[in-house]
Amino acid sequence: SRAKRYGKENRVSTKFTDVAGHDEAKKELIEVVDFLKNPAKYHAIGAEIPKGVLLVGPPGTGKTLMARAVSGEADVPFFSVSASEFMEMFVGVGASRVRTLFEDARKSAPAIIFIDEIDSIGRKRGAGIGGGHDEREQTLNQILSEMDGFEKNASVIILAATNRPDVLDSALLRPGRFDRQVTIDLPNLKEREAILGVHMRGKPLTGGVDVPEIAKSTPGFSGADLKNIVNEAALEAARISKTQIDMSDFYRALDKITLGLENSSLTIR
Ligand code: ATP
Repeated sequence: SRAKRYGKENRVSTKFTDVAGHDEAKKELIEVVDFLKNPAKYHAIGAEIPKGVLLVGPPGTGKTLMARAVSGEADVPFFSVSASEFMEMFVGVGASRVRTLFEDARKSAPAIIFIDEIDSIGRKRGAGIGGGHDEREQTLNQILSEMDGFEKNASVIILAATNRPDVLDSALLRPGRFDRQVTIDLPNLKEREAILGVHMRGKPLTGGVDVPEIAKSTPGFSGADLKNIVNEAALEAARISKTQIDMSDFYRALDKITLGLENSSLTIR
C-alpha cells in the first residue's frame, strides 16, 4: 500500500535482559529509558531531552533488538520502519509516509520511532548514483524537518540503526538531531557465550553441551549468527528424532553454518 508502511506496537515485551552483552550500550540507553519514563524531571531543570540516537554496528549484532528493549523497558509504543522500504519510485511518497509516521508517534507520545538502515535514506545528499535522487532527498529532508519541528517536550525519541555512519549526511548528525551515537559491535568471547545462553534458554540440552567451546569456535559471529547456530543444532537433533540437543548437534550445525558463511558474510566482515 502507498499509505502506511510502518509498524506500530503499543507494548513491547523485550527487555535489556533479552540482549546479551553490549553493557556499555545498555548504560547509555538506560538514560533514554529514563527520558521517556520521567520527562518532568528533565523539563523541571530546563534540560532538553535528546531526540535522536544512532545505533552503529555491523549487521545482526542486535540493533533492532536493543531498540525494542528500550521501548519495552520504558513501556512506550514502538514505531518501526525500514528506511529502504519507505521510498518508492514516485517522488513524494517517502516524505508523506514520514509525515504520517511522526504524526502518529506524536499522538502516542511518549514513544520510540526506530528507523532501520537509515543510511539508505541518509547518505550525503548528491552522492547517489547519477547524482541527485529526488525521492531519497525529499524523504531525508522530511525526517530532518520533523525532528526540528518537535516541540521541546515532545517525548518522542528516534533511534536509527546503521552499519555505515561514515556515509551519513552531516545534516543528520547535527545537535538536536542524531547527536548521540551508541556502538553495537560484534560480540567478544564472553558475549558470545552470553548470547548462546539467551538462545539456549528453555531448550532441552544434554549436560555435555560445552557453551564456552562453542563460543571459542565462533570468532567473528554476530548475535544473529549465534542464534542461527542454536536453531540449526535443534533442527539437527529433531531431524534424527532426539528429544535433547547434544554437542554433536552443535558440531554439525557449526560445520553447516561455517561452510555457508565462508561463501558469504563472514569473509567480508
Ligand atoms: P541488521 O542490522 O542486520 O538489521 P541488527 O543489528 O538489527 O541487524 P537484530 O535484527 O536485532 O540485529 O538481530 C537479529 C537477531 O539476532 C535478534 O532478533 C536476536 O535474536 C539475535 N541477537 C543479536 N544480537 C543479540 C544479542 N546481543 N543478544 C541476544 N540475541 C541477539
